[in-house]
Amino acid sequence: MENCIFCKIANKEIPSNLVYEDEYTVAFNDLNPQAPVHILVIPKAHYASLNETDDKETLAALLNAVKEVTKKLGITDYRTVINTGKAAGQEVFHIHLHILSGRPLNWPPG
Ligand code: 5GP
Ligand code: ZN
Repeated sequence: MENCIFCKIANKEIPSNLVYEDEYTVAFNDLNPQAPVHILVIPKAHYASLNETDDKETLAALLNAVKEVTKKLGITDYRTVINTGKAAGQEVFHIHLHILSGRPLNWPPG
């Protein structure tokens, strides 16, 4: 989608530190990391949020990518977050899963 920063990253129109890629997804380092490991996993297809798609292939591919990324990095303890909607903290309206690791992560998250 035009003017979507994550579409531009997925299409490699703007550079990013890609850590993983497959047919459906790419994963790259967050610009403003909230933990020593902070990676974003996105679908190559544009969906504004989790509310915007029922595509089971894409949804499965996103979780599969989390497993591939963590396996690749040798991470066994991590948190996966999907912020959906402004009130839940979503700022970029192209679905993304956060992978956070490398420091103690409190629960409940607040
Ligand atoms: P949200 O708050 O929407 O769940 O998360 C958006 C995330 O995208 C934030 O953690 C923010 O740091 C990250 N982000 C925003 N713009 C860019 C960008 O241009 N490049 C990268 N790598 N991360 C970005
Ligand atoms: Zn997009």
